Amino acid sequence: MDHFFEGNQPFLSRIPLRGKDKIVFIDVTHEPKTTYVDRLRDELKAEFGEVSGVIGIGGGSTLDMAKAVALMMTNPGSSADYQGWDLVKLPGVYKVGIPTLSGTGAEVSRTTVLTGPTRKLGMNSDYTPFDQIVLDPELIQNAPVNQRFYTAMDCYIHCIESLEGTFLNAFSRSYGEKALELCQEIYLKKDHWDADSDEKLMMASYAGGMSIAYSQVGVAHAVSYGLSYLLGTKHGVGNCIVFDKLEEFYPAGVKEFKQMVDKHQVDIPQHITKGLSDADFETMIDVSMGLAPLWENALGKDWQTLMTRDRLRKLYEQL
Ligand code: NAD
Ligand code: ZN
Repeated sequence: MDHFFEGNQPFLSRIPLRGKDKIVFIDVTHEPKTTYVDRLRDELKAEFGEVSGVIGIGGGSTLDMAKAVALMMTNPGSSADYQGWDLVKLPGVYKVGIPTLSGTGAEVSRTTVLTGPTRKLGMNSDYTPFDQIVLDPELIQNAPVNQRFYTAMDCYIHCIESLEGTFLNAFSRSYGEKALELCQEIYLKKDHWDADSDEKLMMASYAGGMSIAYSQVGVAHAVSYGLSYLLGTKHGVGNCIVFDKLEEFYPAGVKEFKQMVDKHQVDIPQHITKGLSDADFETMIDVSMGLAPLWENALGKDWQTLMTRDRLRKLYEQL
């Protein structure tokens, strides 16, 4: 469970613990690391031997931790060994996801994003999705405006990157268009936030996650992963920082994004790469360039001729 709920007795008393059930609070001050997943797996194995299931209750970070720990209860070695595509060989233990923030799509995706010793990359596999999810809009209703916006924009950006990408297909388009429509309704058309907005945001996150299940994300994610790896910038706000500067790639989406930022008076941090060294920029460029499927989705098969290291450096310097 997300450490945000630690000490929240009314919330905790709603969880029906039985037998050997145990609540583990997950520290999400930093996004999930492979070392944290491995440590938690080792602790659970030492205490229980085997566990019958893992339930993640929280934002995207906690959901990813739950997915990763459930997989690592049965797969040998370190979670870092499985960062990549289709490297997980065994189903994990039964896993359930209960989001308390909406936007990442982690509740439906086939990945769990982890920062490892050499890269930030998910365990993408057919065994990664939850076996069961519970979507209760009451759980997201008290999220602070800025946090809610950053996470919601992750969904909006998933939609734009999927719908504008070369991997687009009928499945991804159907879900992406629906999620985009819901985001536009709650962030541009409605004049105040209410329970209906929470319900719609929760479904937007779900549909946005489904949309990228068979397509991919694009430039904002590829660049924001570099920020996150070097500076620890969190996924939602990092995507917003990058997307804000991507007019040349997604002109209509960026224009609409700026309208949403203005309307909801959200702060998008600026100049976060000011003063970084050449070595720092090289690190971010390496991480970003390593995400070939994202670039290919965004720019096509010959993406390497379009997105050179120089061009990417200039983009990072604007952030
Ligand atoms: P988060 O999980 O990192 O949480 C952000 C903050 O909000 C934390 O401080 C958390 O304690 C707090 N929080 C959680 N629920 C709250 C609530 N109801 N009210 C108030 N505060 C609350 O944020 P996120 O944006 O949901 O998730 C980002 C993470 O998701 C990143 O680690 C990213 O890599 C991952 N992600 C995963 C996927 C995927 O498909 N697996 C996709 C996108 C992002
Ligand atoms: Zn995302």
